[in-house]
Amino acid sequence: MGGTFDPIHHGHLVAASEVAAKFDLDEVVFVPTGQPWQKMSKKVSEAEHRYLMTVIATASNPRFTVSRVDVDRPGPTYTIDTLRDLHTLRPYADLFFITGADALAQILSWKDIDELWSLAHFVGVTRPGHVLDGMGRKDVSLLEVPAMAISSTDCRTRVAAGNPVWYLVPDGVVQYIAKYGLYGGDPDTGDTSA
Ligand code: ATP
Ligand code: MG
Repeated sequence: MGGTFDPIHHGHLVAASEVAAKFDLDEVVFVPTGQPWQKMSKKVSEAEHRYLMTVIATASNPRFTVSRVDVDRPGPTYTIDTLRDLHTLRPYADLFFITGADALAQILSWKDIDELWSLAHFVGVTRPGHVLDGMGRKDVSLLEVPAMAISSTDCRTRVAAGNPVWYLVPDGVVQYIAKYGLYGGDPDTGDTSA
């Protein structure tokens, strides 16, 4: 499952867990992006912070792991490179790429997607506010997951406004955000009780 994870939230974790159960996956590898090419003009937190929050959020699940392939590759992140690298690292694995409805729509609009299909099976999951459409492609499966109306953008906005993100993101991620003062929060107070 690729993502900016800025920060990782329960929408990501529920989607991953549901797909893993439905498709009987051995492992879900979370792959935080380096600089996402779609978000070149936006300010994205340092890759190391996003990577560490993803590690914290997934640490308690033995089937969840985190890969540094995108964080360590210089330049903008393209999904094709992610899949090539994962395939090189695990040549015998059947790869499934998990994506929410919004990201799936973007992927299906790319012009050179044919190599993507040869590297992984795509699984699109429902996301509140977005229409899930696999455009009839047989290499894309669609799955309804419990609706989590959470986005990283909303989490960042909340932190900046001094509003709580408890229960939207895992507890350790709330504390990590406060510790480093991410998203315009106040690191000095270290206040994670709000
Ligand atoms: P941002 O608002 O910064 O874009 P985001 O919440 O969309 O953040 P991303 O890191 O962009 O999170 O998303 C990674 C992947 O997780 C994408 O495939 C996205 O569609 C999916 N996803 C994110 N939030 C949800 C959610 N609440 N339910 C289902 N899928 C989700
Ligand atoms: Mg997004």
